Amino acid sequence: MGSDLECRGCYKQFGSFHARSQHMDAVGHWQCDTCFVQCWDEDALNEHMNDEYHWKDDRIECEGCYSWFDTKAEAKRHMYAENHFRTYFCTSCDKGFETDNNLKQHMNSSIHRGANIACPFCKRGFATATGVTHHLETGSCPNAPSLNRETIYNEIRKRDPNHVITKKLLTYPGPGSSTVEVTNRCWNGFNYECYLCDKEFATLQAVNQHVNSPAHKQKVYHCPGRGCAKEFMSLASLFNHLESESCGAVKFESVQRNVGSFLTGRRTIGFA
Ligand SMILES: [Zn+2]
Ligand SMILES: [Zn+2]
Ligand SMILES: [Zn+2]
Ligand SMILES: [Zn+2]
Ligand SMILES: [Zn+2]
Ligand SMILES: [Zn+2]
Ligand SMILES: [Zn+2]
Repeated sequence: MGSDLECRGCYKQFGSFHARSQHMDAVGHWQCDTCFVQCWDEDALNEHMNDEYHWKDDRIECEGCYSWFDTKAEAKRHMYAENHFRTYFCTSCDKGFETDNNLKQHMNSSIHRGANIACPFCKRGFATATGVTHHLETGSCPNAPSLNRETIYNEIRKRDPNHVITKKLLTYPGPGSSTVEVTNRCWNGFNYECYLCDKEFATLQAVNQHVNSPAHKQKVYHCPGRGCAKEFMSLASLFNHLESESCGAVKFESVQRNVGSFLTGRRTIGFA
């Protein structure tokens, strides 16, 4: 805002208050500071500003743009919607926060802690449990070439007697057995029983087809969430689900804290 001797419409400077008013009356430069509407006299402008709540003093300005709001709540809603908080601002994420505390929380979150999960074997850093697990399940770790999806699963399974994350399977197709032969041993006297899920089938051919369907054979993990029945082919995809916190079963921090002991420890599987 300019000085009192500046025209509100064209910002020209005048020597006196009177001269300025004369000019503004003559050319209709009584301008609203909020919406820039121009009026022919001061009364008309005041009326406009009263009617429209355009007095800046009663109003709250957005921290990020030149919008004004009648209430704090409206201003907040706008600043959240447009990411216009500027007082508390994270420059590396280009994201504003309502309070000092919100910003601090953000700075302490995983986003800013960076690649803080090290591969237990080669010490390479990963930002997520999903990342380090994928690294190992795909056999990409130079220091742990024997690890892959199957060997990790076999290890995890032994340490998960309560089936926190592994499904209750009787056997698991080992390396090299890309198809499973269901034999007459699955005959329970009435039907052929799937040894993975106890479903029953009338013919040996049907149960064979069922067991070898890729989805069935490979989804060996499940979400530990009570209300969440999601199943996963790999530990990495389970971690990915958990780290997204989409079902709320396990907090992101807890996944990160526990991934190390999942992959190397001797401890029973669980989220401490
Ligand atoms: Zn003017
Ligand atoms: Zn106005
Ligand atoms: Zn704004
Ligand atoms: Zn940030
Ligand atoms: Zn590694
Ligand atoms: Zn089955
Ligand atoms: Zn879940």
